[in-house]
Amino acid sequence: MSKLVAGNWKMFGDKNMISEIKKIDQHCNEVRCEVAICPPFPLILSAYEQTKNIQIGAQNCHTDINGAHTGEVSAEMLTEVGAQLIIVGHSERRQDNYESNDIVKLKSEAVHRAGATAVVCIGETLKERETDKTLSVLQEQMLNSLPKNVNPLNTVVAYEPVWAIGTGLVPEIDQIRAAHSFIRGFLASTYGAEAHNVKILYGGSVKGSNAKEIFSISNVNGALVGGASLKSNDFIEIITAASNSI
Ligand code: PEP
Repeated sequence: MSKLVAGNWKMFGDKNMISEIKKIDQHCNEVRCEVAICPPFPLILSAYEQTKNIQIGAQNCHTDINGAHTGEVSAEMLTEVGAQLIIVGHSERRQDNYESNDIVKLKSEAVHRAGATAVVCIGETLKERETDKTLSVLQEQMLNSLPKNVNPLNTVVAYEPVWAIGTGLVPEIDQIRAAHSFIRGFLASTYGAEAHNVKILYGGSVKGSNAKEIFSISNVNGALVGGASLKSNDFIEIITAASNSI
């Protein structure tokens, strides 16, 4: 299956950085992978209007369509301005905003309701890895935060070890392989044969220098990239690695 390279800009970026998105879009005219950028909400519409080869996404949404929820944005509002995929359950939101698995599941279902793809993030903390709880944590997160009807079009799973996000630390190749194989097994046994084509992204300090090796691991179907997605040259190196890994 073709790989997906998705950039998570977090709370970075201003109007001037649309030019970075345009450079990435131009580069993606002929690549053999899918590419997405998830900028902060205020940039989604102009990013969408100024690109044609990449998808634009969002980093969060509310569970409801609309209502008295000051400061919140619904999945429908995001798809209306061009978001085709929406990240839910990023570890920064699970930590900073106390988002539980139950909330993440409701958000994933809201993304489906709006007709977009939910990029559902899961991953263990360093303490959980050191106490051999990685697979049980992943299982618990998948059981309770994945939506009801998962298929390759409506859901992407992002495996992001919390300790690897923004730290420059990357798990051993075998650790990534084991986690992705476990996730694939869970998806197949829960959602059936179709789940073999659900993309599983790796996220956590992916950069141009390690992307090729990470993309060669079985069941790694792309990457969710934070820091290295903010500069077009850095992100394009990762896109090139994905495009060449077919
Ligand atoms: C992320 O924010 O999802 C992420 C993986 O960040 P970084 O690539 O900077 O580790």
